[in-house]
Amino acid sequence: MRDEFTVGIKEELAKRVGFLCSNPGCRQPTSGPQSALSGTVNIGVAAHITAASLGGPRYDASLSSNERGSFGNGIWLCQTCAKLVDSDQSRYTVEKLREWKSDAEAAAARALEQRRSPVTESEGVFIEAERLMPDLIAEMRTDIRGDKTRLIREFVLLPNRNVSFGHTKPRFEYFESEHTNLLLQMDWLEEMGAVIDITPKDSPVYRMTPKFSDWLRGPTQPLNPADPKGETAS
Ligand SMILES: [Zn+2]
Repeated sequence: MRDEFTVGIKEELAKRVGFLCSNPGCRQPTSGPQSALSGTVNIGVAAHITAASLGGPRYDASLSSNERGSFGNGIWLCQTCAKLVDSDQSRYTVEKLREWKSDAEAAAARALEQRRSPVTESEGVFIEAERLMPDLIAEMRTDIRGDKTRLIREFVLLPNRNVSFGHTKPRFEYFESEHTNLLLQMDWLEEMGAVIDITPKDSPVYRMTPKFSDWLRGPTQPLNPADPKGETAS
């Protein structure tokens, strides 16, 4: 038996993210008009974070039937992304989907408050970067959000985890063994204004631009009120 969402919960999931797909690399609108004078088209899906039935993706046996069909277990996605997250469970984990959901809700709230398009020009470019290189951007986002000092923006590229750089200051590390064509991805990120090449000698060292690191950190973690413009981080 499948624990489906009610119509009301589906509507709430869609409305809370402004009817946009919650995948940060997608943000596809999911609702619009039919070609006739009335009627609407919906290409959104209320997807289950943990599966609606035994054997489904990310199924959690500890949940009750009610919990499985509750608002908290749903995420609004476009049809393509709904298929994507169910086809690769090790990559699209429960934690990742919950992060997508809270980020999408925060972005929708911010768009309402600021009365402007939710996507600025540079955000649009970074969303494009995420489409091109989802794994690297996801790792960078985890690093930026995990940095309690909020000051680290430099990173070094290394062949693999057995090689160390001999850091003189805190930096993130990305490994060629874990990201295919890492140097080519850097070319793109440089051109997109996301990173600056600051290589001193042989090992490639880059610095994220303030706009890019702010975008990675996301709207859910506002800057310290004592430092509203994030000037200590630039
Ligand atoms: Zn999507």
